[in-house]
Amino acid sequence: MSTTPSNPPAGEPGTATAPAAVAPAAVAARLRAAFATGRTKPLAWRLAQLAALRSLLTDRTEALLTALHSDLGKGAREAYRTEIAFTLNELDHTVAHLEEWLRPRPAAVPENFRPAEARVVRDPLGVVLIIAPWNYPLQLALAPLVGALAAGNAALVKPSELAPATSAALAELVPHYLDRDAVAVVEGGVPETTALLEQRFDHIFYTGNGAVGRIVMAAAARHLTPVTLELGGKSPVVVEPGVDLAVTAERLARGKFLNAGQTCVAPDYVLAVGDTAAALERHLADAVEALYGQDPATHPEYGRIVNERHFDRLTALLGDGRTVIGGQHDRASRYLAPTVLADVAPDAPVMREEIFGPVLPIVAVPDLDAAIAFVNERDKPLALYAFTESEQTKRRLTEETSSGALTFGLPVSHLAVPELPFGGVGESGMGRYHGEYSLDTFSHTKAVLDKPLG
Ligand code: NAD
Repeated sequence: MSTTPSNPPAGEPGTATAPAAVAPAAVAARLRAAFATGRTKPLAWRLAQLAALRSLLTDRTEALLTALHSDLGKGAREAYRTEIAFTLNELDHTVAHLEEWLRPRPAAVPENFRPAEARVVRDPLGVVLIIAPWNYPLQLALAPLVGALAAGNAALVKPSELAPATSAALAELVPHYLDRDAVAVVEGGVPETTALLEQRFDHIFYTGNGAVGRIVMAAAARHLTPVTLELGGKSPVVVEPGVDLAVTAERLARGKFLNAGQTCVAPDYVLAVGDTAAALERHLADAVEALYGQDPATHPEYGRIVNERHFDRLTALLGDGRTVIGGQHDRASRYLAPTVLADVAPDAPVMREEIFGPVLPIVAVPDLDAAIAFVNERDKPLALYAFTESEQTKRRLTEETSSGALTFGLPVSHLAVPELPFGGVGESGMGRYHGEYSLDTFSHTKAVLDKPLG
């Protein structure tokens, strides 16, 4: 079962549209030539590139915030926090630890090999392709780039054409700040990405929907290129009786309606255990008003839906339950109010695919067993959230379910903890990054054994 709201994939690479053949090959060749000189390997180059990326983000903050507002109506505070500050934190954490992460790690040598030394070293992979989506168009292009550069690679970034202002800003700014021969931005949509995927890369890091993830993986297979697929899906929230529902609703609303719900780890739906649903509805209504006022359309921090296709997809889901709050929408401005739907049937359309917008369905379940069964009958989520006071529930959810991440009490925020890996499992993706996990992703972990000849 696929649960991601896919772009209609235009077909297999190379068959969909006439690719812009010359430019991607030339760019990839330039990056490969730069990597072959060895210039990207020294720690000094890596740190200089990361410092330059830091300057890009701090010197050009205003231009980037303007682009993000133009693409997604992102308010300046939210955009700064989730796109710029997030990337700076990832970068600073990497710079602070890079030398230590790159230190060769000694490995024990079995008795029969001695005397000998063994160690593990991290080798750059070569030229890395990063394909980014539109929903956090800056963060999801640059946070992987931090890892690729820290690991000593040349990198090609392909931003999303559905966030054209941010894509253009990256294409303009990156060559001004970073090593032009080793780091490139190629803009474009399906034809350009299809042409890029024909080139040989040493790693492909893709963030987006699972349908395109399959196209990326098939293209990578032709060159035996490893991939990281950061995909999406439906991230459930289990709410147990006995929790503080005002706090629960406030944290749920913050996570859900951030970026107008267009967040890969947004709470997708609530499984309200026992008798929690009715009280939770009331608290969610209060929480949304506290966050965005009585008319979120006029609140500067409430975003817009990326395009009309997604707007139409989302408004078609509005009849799938009883409207607790929201439902108001305006196609011209792509505004869709923060919406909570109650009494939603488990097989309603809103429960079939990732919502990826500001609509929160509540499904009532009798007990924790039913909640766990509900989660396990569906694709493995990118994140599973629970609000509970019970250590036994926490243990059961940890042991009896599988998801990219499991968070108690605070949806979405696990991805801002740099020592936690970020990635999916099953339909929600493969591989992981952030902090030292990015270094693992963008390096080859090489075994070195040294036995003296004497
Ligand atoms: P998108 O439409 O921007 O597509 C992502 C990238 O794929 C773009 O760069 C696009 O140009 C490229 N692409 C699109 N069609 C292609 C094709 N046929 N061939 C080759 N390349 C193609 O973004 P999207 O997929 O709509 O993003 C939303 C999805 O991404 C959701 O499912 C969301 O959950 C997921 N997501 C996951 C994460 C994560 O970190 N795991 C983060 C953000 C979004």
